[in-house]
Amino acid sequence: MKILVANLGSTSLKWRLFDFANGAERLLHKGGFERVANHSQAIEDCLAQLKTAGAIATENDLAAVGFKAVLAKGVNGCVRLDEAAVQAMEAFNAIAPAHNPPYIAGIRLFAKRVPNVPLVALFETAFYQWITDAATRYGVPAAWHEAGVRRWGFHGASHKFIAERSAELLGREDVAARARNLYVDGGATPVREPALRVISCHLGGSSSIAGIRNGVAIGNSLGMSPQSGLPHNNRVGDLDAMAVPFMMRTQGLSLDEAERQLCKDGGLKGVSGVSNDIRDIQTAAEQGNTAAQAAIDFFVHEVRRWIGAYLAELNGADALVFTAGIGENRGEIRAAICSQLDQLGIAIDAAKNCSTRGQEAVISAPDSRVKVMVIPTNEELVVAREVKRFLENPRTWQRTTLNG
Ligand code: ADP
Repeated sequence: MKILVANLGSTSLKWRLFDFANGAERLLHKGGFERVANHSQAIEDCLAQLKTAGAIATENDLAAVGFKAVLAKGVNGCVRLDEAAVQAMEAFNAIAPAHNPPYIAGIRLFAKRVPNVPLVALFETAFYQWITDAATRYGVPAAWHEAGVRRWGFHGASHKFIAERSAELLGREDVAARARNLYVDGGATPVREPALRVISCHLGGSSSIAGIRNGVAIGNSLGMSPQSGLPHNNRVGDLDAMAVPFMMRTQGLSLDEAERQLCKDGGLKGVSGVSNDIRDIQTAAEQGNTAAQAAIDFFVHEVRRWIGAYLAELNGADALVFTAGIGENRGEIRAAICSQLDQLGIAIDAAKNCSTRGQEAVISAPDSRVKVMVIPTNEELVVAREVKRFLENPRTWQRTTLNG
């Protein structure tokens, strides 16, 4: 069974093709285009590359195209992308203006180009379907909550991968199985005591932290929109809601301009004034740029606050996991995040931390109560696995929530 996972940005198309033949999981092909002006042509070129590489003979060799879609109104989990599901995504375009429109455009193009191949979405909100009502709330009138102004949580594919993989590495196959089966049985797979408490830090272009108990998320720093929580590369992160009317009233910003600045000129780019890439920011900081150093200090500060939130909610942690571009590759950022946490049971081994880049490793000191780990994430594999299970049993997999 060959499943193509397509990752769509406003100017990019990236893909991975997985083959699940004979119970194995094989990555058959991966590729991508940046600076795409014409997505229709990019899809054509992607299919041509798959054929040239011998990964598929015709489009109909694809059992499905899977999408790591962000969110939709009234739809969650793993779903077939029919017209109603695409319209449900459109209904929340204003929550994810950088994400939903390119996905919808790409999905429509795939539907036209490969009409016989099922298109299936795994929503990034899927991992948070079991968080408590309290963890979904903002202090807004009930009608706002009903309209969708609530904490959804995103990066679900990545944090679910970390939930499974960290449990495997910690010898908790029971918890790994619960995480693996989560979307089939809603967390009913039995686990033994004690509970496994994991704090997963996905630090990259977009960043978020999830608290995970026994393989199931209890919350995520991303709230209503992918612009919330930690500061992102160029998106704002958490902000006092009154800041927007304040800037509009006192600085004459229009609503569109305020939104544009928060989504494009905010986050690490806005604070540093240098770049949206932590590598450039760090280089500038080393050369004495104080705004660049301020951006790094701010990022580290925010990560520590969210780690603290989940340490409280989980009543401690067994593992603290770093993943994604920054989490996997930036030892100095990990060291700053983990400094002075020994009273909370977190102590890293400086040498192990420095030498770890992009590979699975335990980087905590031997006497650290909390295991600190680096685990490269694999979001596309999570999407492909769920799409495969959806195809095998679509009825079990069709989940919709009433919220939104
Ligand atoms: P996205 O969220 O867009 O997928 P990534 O997870 O690749 O992005 O994270 C991008 C961030 O991670 C950038 O700030 C970049 O500097 C950093 N990063 C990514 N890869 C590396 C690397 N190999 N070495 C150092 N930093 C990296």
